[in-house]
Amino acid sequence: MAFEGLTERLQSAMSKLRRKPKVTEADLKETMREIRLALLEADVNFTVVKDFVKQVRERATGTDVLQGLNPAQQIVKIVDEELTKTMGSEAVPLNKSDKIPTIIMMTGLQGAGKTTTAGKLALKLKNEENARPMFIAADVYRPAAIDQLETVAKSIDVPVFQLGTDVDPVEIVRQGLEEAKAKHNDYVIIDTAGRLQIDEKLMNELVNIETLAQPDEILLVVDAMTGQNATETADGFNSKLNITGVILTKLDGDTRGGAALSIRAVTGKPIKFVGQGEKMTDLDVFHPDRMSSRILGMGDMLTLIEKAQQDFDEDQAKKTMDKMRENSFDFNDFLDQMEQVQNMGPIEDIMKMIPGMANNPAIKNVKVDPKDMDHIKAIVYSMTPAERENPDLLNPSRRRRLAAGAARPIVEVNRMIKQFNEMKKMMKQVSSGNMAGMEQMMGG
Ligand code: GDP
Repeated sequence: MAFEGLTERLQSAMSKLRRKPKVTEADLKETMREIRLALLEADVNFTVVKDFVKQVRERATGTDVLQGLNPAQQIVKIVDEELTKTMGSEAVPLNKSDKIPTIIMMTGLQGAGKTTTAGKLALKLKNEENARPMFIAADVYRPAAIDQLETVAKSIDVPVFQLGTDVDPVEIVRQGLEEAKAKHNDYVIIDTAGRLQIDEKLMNELVNIETLAQPDEILLVVDAMTGQNATETADGFNSKLNITGVILTKLDGDTRGGAALSIRAVTGKPIKFVGQGEKMTDLDVFHPDRMSSRILGMGDMLTLIEKAQQDFDEDQAKKTMDKMRENSFDFNDFLDQMEQVQNMGPIEDIMKMIPGMANNPAIKNVKVDPKDMDHIKAIVYSMTPAERENPDLLNPSRRRRLAAGAARPIVEVNRMIKQFNEMKKMMKQVSSGNMAGMEQMMGG
């Protein structure tokens, strides 16, 4: 899980502060020392850390905060605001051209996720704007690169312009742009070559492509797992090309946080999107404030809600809400819900987006085995339609039948039904407007 160590250390620094009856200058100094170490250990750029700590200290020192109401809370707020600022404050949208096509050039080192991300971006444009993107395959050094782009493109039904590997990339781009104009594609996404390291020949080629294509957007794809190296790579590309935005990939892995926190401050270029998985739908707009909440372990409810909206069927969600209100949620709905939730990705990742959960010891080491979900489903599948609609029918003899049908122990059947009934009770409370519990959870 991304940022785990950083979140843990920041939270520990803050909670020590919270336990103090009074916060003194010395306490603040100690907290800032811990925060500084936590950031350095997370591989955040040294200068970025220095500036960050200076800002927080300046704002937190002085009587206003320390002698005001709830100083620890105020310091957390300052840290949150400064982290957000370090990452760029606001989400920055994709540049668009007044005339079609809008030209997007993808750059980055080999393995950063350029081709995958080109596909994700095209799919996003298709889904959100009904766009008709086209790819240009300008990586002529690895035949496999063109094949990979073709495979990605096919999976999302986007055309690829390619001339094989024997033509100069600049010429490929020139012809590709003509084709896009002729076919009225509204976006062109150019997949360029990557190397394992920045080298001059590659940079010259990219500069030539830039000069010819005059892209509206030159996106640099960097791998978040590479920490500070990602920042150096970004600096290198940025010094030759007019990079307009960064896409940080592999934020679903256990990256320490250095790249996310350093890139904007070091290069001055905004992170526009983040890749959070290998699926074509795993690309999210980068929101500095939400990322800060996530890093501080305060959860990322907004992204969670957006994810749910994207993955959940709206009619289905409405039906479920109605059922919850009427208290008629049954095992058929339960099955639908389980399937939809499973589509959102690993349960433990989803849980960690809930405020206060990221470092909650109760779920820290939770690994929800997909097999457990399958066992629960098997039990539900063993129910008759009448039982699914009316769980009250499930007396001991029927439960024994379910256990035999699903080949699961009877205790598991009993536990599952008990959990279902508890969930139903909770749903009733929430839908009848009793939000007190929820608000408490969100720290309100
Ligand atoms: P390229 O050489 O820059 O074009 O990189 P690729 O697009 O081939 O990606 C390299 C590897 O990283 C592939 O196995 C991708 O599936 C994987 N990858 C790309 N983006 C992500 C991401 O956001 N999360 C994860 N987990 N893997 C990713």
